[in-house]
Amino acid sequence: MKSLKNLAEACPEEQSRFFSSFDHFLTDMDGVIWINYKPLPGAVEFINSLKKQGKKIRYITNNGLASVGSIWNVLKKNKFDAEIDDLATPITSGIAYLKQENIKKSIFAVGTKEFKEELRKAGLKVYPDPPQEIDEAIPSLLEHLRDDENVGAVFFNFDPNLTFVKMQKMATFLKRDDCHYITGPGDKYIPAGPLGPIIGNYHNIRCLDEISGRKSTPIAKPSQFFADSITERFGISDPKRVLFVGDSIPEDMNMAATAGFQKLLVLTGLASIQDVRCWQYPEEYKPEYYVESLDVLNNILKSLNVQRETSSN
Ligand SMILES: [Mg+2]
Repeated sequence: MKSLKNLAEACPEEQSRFFSSFDHFLTDMDGVIWINYKPLPGAVEFINSLKKQGKKIRYITNNGLASVGSIWNVLKKNKFDAEIDDLATPITSGIAYLKQENIKKSIFAVGTKEFKEELRKAGLKVYPDPPQEIDEAIPSLLEHLRDDENVGAVFFNFDPNLTFVKMQKMATFLKRDDCHYITGPGDKYIPAGPLGPIIGNYHNIRCLDEISGRKSTPIAKPSQFFADSITERFGISDPKRVLFVGDSIPEDMNMAATAGFQKLLVLTGLASIQDVRCWQYPEEYKPEYYVESLDVLNNILKSLNVQRETSSN
């Protein structure tokens, strides 16, 4: 079993080797750079100084509710030096899947308005939503059970306005084997402070899998498809020169392992020091280093820069 080291406790030479070991810095967002869109201490300064040193910074999130443009606006508002094309989300990954499969028919997209709008902007046809409320009688329900061969794919994302009719329609379309079936984040629950947790889409996806007898293609973290689409989207030729930073072991460390990236775990979100001390996940998810926060990482980088300047004078 390999050990998991605290980067802050490594000697400066080792820390310096660590920073030289990657060209791409891929960061998860919630729990790493911010929590609920509120930047964590040191995150903006660290990311921007890393970019100034020539590293390629990319933002990888499992947020499938908001469009890439909306998330990018929050990054800009908080002074992260980012371009819109630096982001990858379950929506960009889903679009990559639908284009790769060359789906010309309509997409039955279950999710937020921003999600559906982003599919339309990408040139995909989005099937009209069923009414949010129907008559509470069998004949009315039967009206919504008809198949429509114009639907070529079901894209089931997290939907705060999920209804019985939407579930039923997905099950109907999925009776056809030629109808593609992709799913966004499959969390069992979503942390939401003392009021939470929010029920994750895992349970709804399992329900639809069972009713339809189909198995979806997951396109969010930690799926193979998302890993591949990130590699493709960002033109990564050598995964070993990529560092993936995340706060979730089963999602971030898992997907980084799938993609062959280097991994760094931070403890400002889901993972805790207990997880580090008492590792209970597959060995391949284990990163070489963990660090308490981006703030600590920022301080390490600053002290290395000072040492470099001092030695060059
Ligand atoms: Mg996270």
